[in-house]
Amino acid sequence: MIPRRLLRNSRKTEHGAKQFLISLAVRAAPFALLIASLSGIACVSALVLATALLRPALLGQTQQQQYDLMITGGKIIDGTGGSWYFGDVAIKGDTIAAIGKLDPATAARRIDASGLVVSPGFIDVHTHARRGIMDDPFAKNYIWQGVTTVMEGPDGSSPLPIKDALDRIAALHTAPNYGTLVGQGSIRQQVMGLVNRNATPEEIAKMRQITRQAMLDGAFGISTGLIYIPGNFTPTEEIVELAKVAGAMGGIHTSHMRDEAFHVLDSVKETIRIGEEGGLPTQVTHHKIIGTRNWGMSKETIRLVEEARARGVDATIDAYPYTASSSSTAILIPTWAQEGGQKALVERLDAPVQKAKIKAGVIENLKTDRGGGDPANVVIANCGFDPKLAGKNLSEITKLRGRELNLENAAETLLDLQHAGGCQAIYHAMDEQDTENILRYPFTMIGSDGEVPHFGVGAPHPRSYGTFARVLGRYVRERHTLTLEDAVRRMTSLPSARFRVYDRGLLRPGLKADVVVFDPATVADKATFENPHQYAVGFRDVIVNGKPVIENAKLTNERPGRVLYGPAKTK
Ligand SMILES: [Zn+2]
Repeated sequence: MIPRRLLRNSRKTEHGAKQFLISLAVRAAPFALLIASLSGIACVSALVLATALLRPALLGQTQQQQYDLMITGGKIIDGTGGSWYFGDVAIKGDTIAAIGKLDPATAARRIDASGLVVSPGFIDVHTHARRGIMDDPFAKNYIWQGVTTVMEGPDGSSPLPIKDALDRIAALHTAPNYGTLVGQGSIRQQVMGLVNRNATPEEIAKMRQITRQAMLDGAFGISTGLIYIPGNFTPTEEIVELAKVAGAMGGIHTSHMRDEAFHVLDSVKETIRIGEEGGLPTQVTHHKIIGTRNWGMSKETIRLVEEARARGVDATIDAYPYTASSSSTAILIPTWAQEGGQKALVERLDAPVQKAKIKAGVIENLKTDRGGGDPANVVIANCGFDPKLAGKNLSEITKLRGRELNLENAAETLLDLQHAGGCQAIYHAMDEQDTENILRYPFTMIGSDGEVPHFGVGAPHPRSYGTFARVLGRYVRERHTLTLEDAVRRMTSLPSARFRVYDRGLLRPGLKADVVVFDPATVADKATFENPHQYAVGFRDVIVNGKPVIENAKLTNERPGRVLYGPAKTK
């Protein structure tokens, strides 16, 4: 941790110079009067001279600059999706004070944005930022891609109680703003543990109460992770009961769905049903189509979302711009085998009959699901028990262990890794056409699904460093999948309306001053799967709550981010 006092951006020297000039002018004025009188110049002239000397000093002391910060001459993309226009943005305190042709207004600081785009700061709707933000409260990987707000608590997983988690973030002082959902899996685990059975009415009542408290503490809604345990053990009806509580308090629902491969259509239907019966907005999060035989199904999933919207269900999507996903290696293990957690799984793996059944499930998943038919598609990102495995794929590790390469042996190797505690892995099993199709859908917003990586450690998915810059570089500038204005809308006003963060996500007077200045000609992600620890480029200024955290392409050491609270807390 860096001491707080070193992180404060002191402006003392600048302030001192100003004070010095003021005092000099004030002292010089009486002398001017005296000299003028003595030399016989008319009193009027002496007064004029004295006033001229005093004037700048008095102005400096009594008249404030009109604004604290002005960003001038940029192309304004306001977040609505409307076309860019030239204009100036003026900020006072933490708020956008004015937009338009503002010269000759005065400001304490000016940023010349000629040739650059000025837009609202980006809101990342799906992050695991709590992984790492305690060690890097600047969340540099996010700041460098223009993200000024991170949303946490996705995939059914969040700390409980929400209040303590948010208090810790508030005390930490992060550079970006930080909000959270409450995780359905975490709630169920707290009440029932990791068991595979239906909840009793008493347990459901308890879970509803925890949901209610989480909303009161400031959650933006509830998330589900139905591919993970204990989400996978949860029937839809039980989720609906919690969704009703969150919905009645203004919350939303987002889902890492039960299946993103062969049964993805059923999963989208379930996500829509939770919104429809729970009476709340519902979102397919990090939407993707996994497994070669399922490629192309994004046409159908989007059709389902469209049909739901047409009958009045508020259903939307978020996605990241990559054709690989990332998750624990446990995602390849059948969920029944994970009941009770890691310890119980290890016991099953030590029992030959059980292990054979588990292995059959892993082989199937390598063939048709996240393995994409080839163990080389599974690349280790991080392994707590053996850091040297990072960057190696499952084929390589299988061979390194002296095994002949086939699916069966790859599954055996995967079980070895899981037995030792499991790893984080990257799965190359998606198709570019589905990715583009999903990004193009008008109600798809952008979410990285990233974290705050330890810079240089392991081989994490590049999405943590590159998501937003990649959309602007690859999918706007290079492939013309989206217009620049539309891409910005999906990073700003679409998510702010979704999460009901009504004071951000647009450039409008009166809204909070989260503003980014970037070069549309050079903005790009640098992080690759081979070399992920590279910050994005093209963002020259990033302002959070009126304070620059990146100024002229340099970090300022400011951490002006705030905890954002959901609708039930802020009311
Ligand atoms: Zn997920």
